[in-house]
Amino acid sequence: MNIDSLFSHIDQKPESGILYIVGTPIGNLYDISLRALNTLKNVSLVACEDTRQTKKIMNKYSIKNNLISFNMHNSIKKIPIIINQLKKGDSIALVSDAGMPSICDPGENLVREVKLNKLKTICIPGPCAALTALVSSGLESSKFIFEGFLPKKQNERNKILFDISKNTKTTIIYESPHRINKFLVELKNFCGGEREIQLYRELTKKFEEHMGNNINEVIENIKDKEIIGEITVLIRGINHSKNQDINLIILKNELNELINAGLNLSSASKYLAKKNGVPKNIIYNLY
Ligand code: SAM
Repeated sequence: MNIDSLFSHIDQKPESGILYIVGTPIGNLYDISLRALNTLKNVSLVACEDTRQTKKIMNKYSIKNNLISFNMHNSIKKIPIIINQLKKGDSIALVSDAGMPSICDPGENLVREVKLNKLKTICIPGPCAALTALVSSGLESSKFIFEGFLPKKQNERNKILFDISKNTKTTIIYESPHRINKFLVELKNFCGGEREIQLYRELTKKFEEHMGNNINEVIENIKDKEIIGEITVLIRGINHSKNQDINLIILKNELNELINAGLNLSSASKYLAKKNGVPKNIIYNLY
């Protein structure tokens, strides 16, 4: 596609010595701004997570430019090189494979280093899977918690799952298709199967799919299916009155676990009271 005639209306050219953080599509190649394309075309250099991915969008819009790879594995080596180029007056665009750089993608370390070197950054915003799912959901969207990918270590995962079970705000999670079943079962263990969730698969792409209403239903929906593609999950926050009930159930379970592990009722209640900021007698009386 030749968009030179559209570019002719944009009078802004990238300025020297600036790192442009450029959002790119999360699937649909038409979801890119003219300003992003203009920048990719006119910077001195494009630093991209995977040059093959970035070439797809460059080719689509007949853009040619110098690409270098910048990813999790080579960032320590590449950051000083990029900083030097910026100091020499080059303008550089940073893109990830999809969506906004730095959001579960490489970028934040480079941006921090650019700022520490008193150089300038400008973000040219684009799509982000988390926000695309959020605004599609109708769940509370002005206040939310973004957890990205959950950690792999079980104790760290459990801590976050416990927090999610108590969150009053919408929580957004990124998950891979081969771990989604495990994640949903874990989520059910912490939140109960009735908790409202919405699962978004392949947003902005041809086979975009939305699934809801609650954890039980989504588990039922995907069981025995081969799930492929990219997934974002939203978990509804609990309202305050329900919050109280669910917290008490969770606390009761924790109390039982501690007592089964050998702690006496008084010590276990004292421990949980301190941990959760709840009066000890409330926990004591749960037993
Ligand atoms: N930087 C990206 C952004 O701005 O959303 C996120 C990159 S992260 C490495 C990739 C994860 O984002 C995927 O595993 C999936 O959880 C989520 N994701 C990306 N594209 C998606 C899409 N089209 N539909 C649903 N989720 C998506």
